[in-house]
Order: sequence, then structure tokens, then C-alpha cells
Amino acid sequence: MKFLFLNSNIIETVIFDFDGTLAKLNIDFPYMHRVIDQLISDHKMSTQPLHSGHVLERISETAAILQNQKPEKAKAFRDEAFRRIETIEIEAARQGELFDQTKSLLTELRQRSIRIGIVTRNCARAVQTVFPDIGSFCPVVVSRDDVREVKPHPEHITTALHLLGSLPRTSLMVGDHPLDIETGRNAETFTAGVLSGHFAADDFIKAGADIVLKRAADILSELAPAGDLTVSGGHQPPNSMQDV
Ligand SMILES: [Mg+2]
Repeated sequence: MKFLFLNSNIIETVIFDFDGTLAKLNIDFPYMHRVIDQLISDHKMSTQPLHSGHVLERISETAAILQNQKPEKAKAFRDEAFRRIETIEIEAARQGELFDQTKSLLTELRQRSIRIGIVTRNCARAVQTVFPDIGSFCPVVVSRDDVREVKPHPEHITTALHLLGSLPRTSLMVGDHPLDIETGRNAETFTAGVLSGHFAADDFIKAGADIVLKRAADILSELAPAGDLTVSGGHQPPNSMQDV
């Protein structure tokens, strides 16, 4: 069996984020924010007390406030909010596509007996729209529809690891957003930031990433040939940014 070596640590499982990591990132998040903040205003609610800058969390916070003030409106707000963001996500997915190397990356990892999973804050329908045959390439896909708590909560990763029969200490989370690094650290996996989204190497280093790569497919270069442990022994931590 071959393993992935990351800074001399054995990695048996790789968990990928989806948008910006395996697929081109084309969701217009600023637009999505405006749509949801408008819906919050339409419900005579202020966006001022909301702590999170992330759309899903702003929906949850608003629903929680409504639940205390006007319980009958909380579910209606939540349902409408998710209907609106799904409309945006599905439309983006129809225009979306995988990165050129994604299918070969997933195939290669499985051939090397590395377990793989995908965790995404996107909805399952959007992921299926971009990657209809995803089940043939990746056995475990955990969308936001499948968990109570999404990234950066560790439950999102630990659900995938449980389904794969994997442990955090031999797993690597790969993502294009510092939130992916935060998630991996929360779940106590190793973490890799990739520059195929909207963030720079410094953002991932500040977030505490173990490694930064240009793109997800570059993790294949971290693979040690079967039985050749000298590859891992000679690998240095990426603090000099040689891996970028
Ligand atoms: Mg992403």
C-alpha cells in the first residue's frame, strides 16, 4: 500500500473542499450576501447584530433571533433563504466546471489506496450539477444537506472521516479558503491550502496550514513511491514557501 507523506507524517485519507478546490469557483458570494441581507431586511430584521460574515451563519443567526421573537416566521425565513441561495448555487453550477486535473487526481489517489472524501458548504444538487458522475470518483461526499453543522465546525469533516473509517491524525484537509484550514485544525487533521480560489499563500499560512500548494493536484507530488521512505524523510516543512 502506498501512502501520502506530508512533512514526514503518514496520510491515509484526503478530504477535499469542492468549489475552488476541485471545481472552478464561480459562485458570486457578494451577490448572495446582498440577496440574503435584503431578505433579512424584508423580515424587518436588522443585520447589525449578526456576528458572522458568512451567509449560512447569517441565516442561522437570523432564524435563531426570529425563533425567540416570532417563532412562526423563523421556519418561513429559513426556507426562503435557502431557496434563494440554492437558486444562485444551481445557476452557478450550470455554468461551472471541474478543474482539468480533478478526475485524474481522484483516480490516482484511489489507485494508490488513499481514501478520499469531499466536504462542501454547497448544496448536493449544485455539486451533482457540476460533477454528475461524482459517485464514480469519490465514495463519500458530504454536502451541507448532510450535516447539522457545516464547516468550520469539525462535524463536517468528522462525518466524512467516519464514513470512510478514517482517523483525523492520518488525514489531510485540502481547500481554497482559510475556513477549510480552520475546519481541519478544528477536527485535528493536517491541512493544505490551495491557490486555485481567491486567497493567497499568506492567508493560508496565517490560518495555520501545514502546506500551501498551487492546486489540489499538486498533492500527488507529495506521494512517496511504494516502499521508498526516503522521499518522506527528505521532505521539509513548507515555511519557506517552496511548495507554493
Ligand atoms: Mg472552496
